[in-house]
Amino acid sequence: MKPRKKARSIKEELLLKCRELEVPLVGFTPVERWEKPPEELPNTFKEWIPKEFRPQSIYPEAKTVVVIGLPVQLPIVETAPSIYYHNLYNTVNALLDEKAYEISNFLTEKGYPSIYLPRDGYGDIDVLIERPLAFFSHKYAAYLAGLGSIGLNNVILTPEYGPRVRFTSIFTTAPIESEVPKINDLCTRCMRCTVECPVNAIYPQNLIKNDLKNELSDPKMDLKYFPPPMDKLKCALRSKNLRKELRAPCGICIKVCPVGEDRKVFGREDMKIYSKNEDFKVYHEAWEHVKRYGTRKKHE
Ligand code: SF4
Ligand code: SF4
Repeated sequence: MKPRKKARSIKEELLLKCRELEVPLVGFTPVERWEKPPEELPNTFKEWIPKEFRPQSIYPEAKTVVVIGLPVQLPIVETAPSIYYHNLYNTVNALLDEKAYEISNFLTEKGYPSIYLPRDGYGDIDVLIERPLAFFSHKYAAYLAGLGSIGLNNVILTPEYGPRVRFTSIFTTAPIESEVPKINDLCTRCMRCTVECPVNAIYPQNLIKNDLKNELSDPKMDLKYFPPPMDKLKCALRSKNLRKELRAPCGICIKVCPVGEDRKVFGREDMKIYSKNEDFKVYHEAWEHVKRYGTRKKHE
């Protein structure tokens, strides 16, 4: 008699489903982590997520949050702000919504009622300008699931794609085991995001006192809280202006971040590529060409 195959656990089934859907990043976190984030995690926050924003408040039956991530391709981000990155951003958001919806239905059919969360969860940029919050943060869900650490640019940095990845979440009643994540602080404090931000929204320059600036540049620095808050209003206002020109989002702070294996994959490890350097002229010409078309931005 043939030995009977061991039934797959719901976690194994889910991972197989994600593979079938070609989702490269998947993480799990029990909802209890919103009450007390594991001390092993790399960031320290001055304020933690208020109760009403936690998954168990939004869907009281939830036991686990499944987080999925899809990359944005670096050579396209390099054209940002542009119609090319604008289209990619919308495509990735739509795919995330679709895949999260499918995964939630899959889990429900397996006997664990589940609901998907929208990728963005806001109606218009003006809403964000007035109140820069969504009802649930995928960034913190990805962080608690151990998919990355939070960088100075206030974005999740992943080992695979640095900040060039977008996330969404699924709330499920399935109790899925997950070990406390082992993830290091990936932010190198290179300050590129701060320096390149066109509106000084990241650790706003006007708030950087000389001594703190030195501290931030020092890789050994140990600020009590990291990352420091960014100026979300300035960032949202820039996004609004770019939207009028049909070339949002901005993307500059995620373009210049040196973290991520995708730099190796796309041959973009030399960060001099983003400075006016003769060796990289051909890239700058390509980006300028893309930027010149498909938006309302006037070019000479
Ligand atoms: S998206 Fe642009 S405006 Fe916003 S923080 Fe990043 S670089 Fe600054
Ligand atoms: S650009 Fe540098 S400072 Fe900014 S998030 Fe990336 S590693 Fe950190």
